[in-house]
Amino acid sequence: MTHTHTPPDRQAILRWLVSDDPQEVAALWRLADLTRQCFVGDPVHLRGLVEVSNRCERNCLYCGIRADNRQLQRYLMLSDEILACAHKAVQVGFGTLVLQAGEDSAIEGQWVADIVRQVKEETDLAITLSLGERPDQDYQLWHAAGADRYLLRFETGNRELFDRIHPPLAGQSCDRLSILARLREIGYEVGSGVMVGIPGQSYDSLADDIDRFRTLDLDMIGVGPYIPHPDTPLASIGNRWALPPGEQVVNSVEMGYRVIALARLVCPQANIPSTTAFATLDGPVGRELGLQRGANIVMPNLTPQKYRRMYEIYPAKAASTEDAEQSCAAALRQIRALGRTVGTGRGDSPNLQKSI
Ligand code: SAH
Repeated sequence: MTHTHTPPDRQAILRWLVSDDPQEVAALWRLADLTRQCFVGDPVHLRGLVEVSNRCERNCLYCGIRADNRQLQRYLMLSDEILACAHKAVQVGFGTLVLQAGEDSAIEGQWVADIVRQVKEETDLAITLSLGERPDQDYQLWHAAGADRYLLRFETGNRELFDRIHPPLAGQSCDRLSILARLREIGYEVGSGVMVGIPGQSYDSLADDIDRFRTLDLDMIGVGPYIPHPDTPLASIGNRWALPPGEQVVNSVEMGYRVIALARLVCPQANIPSTTAFATLDGPVGRELGLQRGANIVMPNLTPQKYRRMYEIYPAKAASTEDAEQSCAAALRQIRALGRTVGTGRGDSPNLQKSI
């Protein structure tokens, strides 16, 4: 089957982002949904998310689990608990386990590698890691242990804004774009993305970011609206950093959907989740609208109940009281109600397969 699909260029992306014509916006939703159907089809793949640890040495100005947030009790899951989550994922029919955490150098690379190896030995799950910036040798070690995919959002491609909201560790600099290139070289399926509506983020720079999704040729794209967390500096200084109205990207769910839709147009074969941020702001319908505007992935939370509320990267994270079975059943109901199917198998990105 051949598809003729011309991704929008930067100018067109910017036009879609700022359009206030409801018909134009409705056309974007239709085009994104059609493109999704054409390139990745109706299956919605489910990824089981496990929030392995909220310990973090970084002080990202937007993130609720930043080191200086003393309101938070810190935890690190036991490897047996993580293994149990992997078996739960298999039991409820998921093809992928996503392990996410804050950045904590006390978590040894080898410890993670051993867990990855054991999950691969005991199950057929694909493994996605989202453990932030780590030494190159850890990325290699984890890939050698069997990790398939790595998620690392570049958050914003505006260097000055990125450095402001994501201060580097003392004596180090961080360049997430070069890490992404390196992860690709090592052999990971690579995912990235941005937050939408960071104070100081302009439509111009967001258009650049979406255009960068295309040049990075991402296999996975995760985006969501920025949600202020009251125990973070950005929540209080955000207003001061905001650009004049019309320039400042609004952090609305609607703008988040526009970015999902445009991500689908620039990377038609990518796996794109309808992320938790949408469900947090907009309830169950938030997730559904994401799936109807370009997304093809849902990531139900498998983190054990006792840790859930401690992984508060932003307030009132969706479904924090649902257990694994409940959040999984809810996702299945939603997918079927939309007339979509539940993906089977690992749900690798067709974008990756094209290059093999
Ligand atoms: N430590 C890992 C995982 C971070 S949590 C890393 O840095 O990659 C995953 C994503 O949640 C982040 O990349 C960020 O885009 C998003 N996030 C964090 N705080 C947020 C907030 N206040 N509002 C919306 N999204 C947020």
